[in-house]
Amino acid sequence: MSSTAVVRDLVDPYGRTIRDLRISVTDRCNFRCTYCMPAEGMVWLPKTEVLTFEEIERLARIVVEHFGVDGIRLTGGEPTMRAHLPVLVAKLAALSVPKESASPLAGQPIDLAITTNGATLANCVDELKLAGIARVNISLDTLDRAKFEQMTRRDELPRVLAGIDAAIGAGFSSVKINAVVERGVNDNEILDLAEFGRAKGVEVRFIEFMPLDAEGHWLSDKVVSQDEIVEQIAQVHPLELIPARGAAPADRWRYLDGKGSVGVIPSVTKPFCGDCDRVRLTADGQFRTCLFSTTEFDLRDLMRSGADDVAVAAEVERAVGTKWAGHQINQVNFIRPKRSMSQIGG
Ligand code: SAM
Ligand code: SF4
Repeated sequence: MSSTAVVRDLVDPYGRTIRDLRISVTDRCNFRCTYCMPAEGMVWLPKTEVLTFEEIERLARIVVEHFGVDGIRLTGGEPTMRAHLPVLVAKLAALSVPKESASPLAGQPIDLAITTNGATLANCVDELKLAGIARVNISLDTLDRAKFEQMTRRDELPRVLAGIDAAIGAGFSSVKINAVVERGVNDNEILDLAEFGRAKGVEVRFIEFMPLDAEGHWLSDKVVSQDEIVEQIAQVHPLELIPARGAAPADRWRYLDGKGSVGVIPSVTKPFCGDCDRVRLTADGQFRTCLFSTTEFDLRDLMRSGADDVAVAAEVERAVGTKWAGHQINQVNFIRPKRSMSQIGG
């Protein structure tokens, strides 16, 4: 730990302690999911604007050492598209939560996770595990090959299924499946996806469609609510709510027959902002206190201008001081962020 770091909690104006950092390692992707990216025309960040591994490691170390941030999730774009990703993973896996921190993980290594579309996972999963990834979330919105091609604009369902099997076989502490549900597109597959998770022994987490698609096609009518999702599953497989979600975004239910659990992330119909403990770093080093933030804090330029760790930590603290109580998706004054999901890091 750097000698100047004094560990203190990073607390926002609404009393929420920040413990979780989502780092986007690239804005690029090998898919073009309709709810995220346009088919063509995405403008990629120039390489010089993307944080280097050294810069990402430095920022991660600063928030872990100064503020007891205890969880980091790598995302994107598609994180596995970033060359030599396991090198970064190994650097981050070496970080430990300071003993003096109030985090439940004080004195232990950080909880390091990744969210991926799974298409290249079969090739790199062992390397990622060896480098120190503990938990993996894989996106899968449909089990129908034609629908998969329609939703991702890529005919990659077999490779994603192989990636899921590879992740299950690799022995991570957790493998989960993320499924965005869009009305009229894949809402007829809620039960099939839930049953896929039961058969594989992994938790499926259904995600309400959020207004972060690059093409701006989101409409509230396209959101399938948590209540509808749970009802559809419970009609066939009775469920019981698992209490105490804490800061995790998903509400979770266990199957009464003992065959695992299922989650729903109800970002639109039941926002969990009151318990939010997360902040985000974009691939170009912009710090955001919410997925829906319209303000960013430029940590890349700050670092590149020679700021020391204490100054960078102070800027993080200043940013967290502006974290708002919650997003306003359901209100008339909601403003879509300029960046779409793949550019922020979901
Ligand atoms: N490429 C990786 C993947 O797809 O898993 C990681 C990045 S992706 C932006 C992270 C998560 O955001 C994925 O689970 C994806 O399904 C979800 N996502 C993307 N656009 C979304 C939207 N408009 N509403 C809800 N979830 C979305
Ligand atoms: Fe790529 Fe993930 Fe966005 Fe799909 S959701 S286009 S896989 S970043």
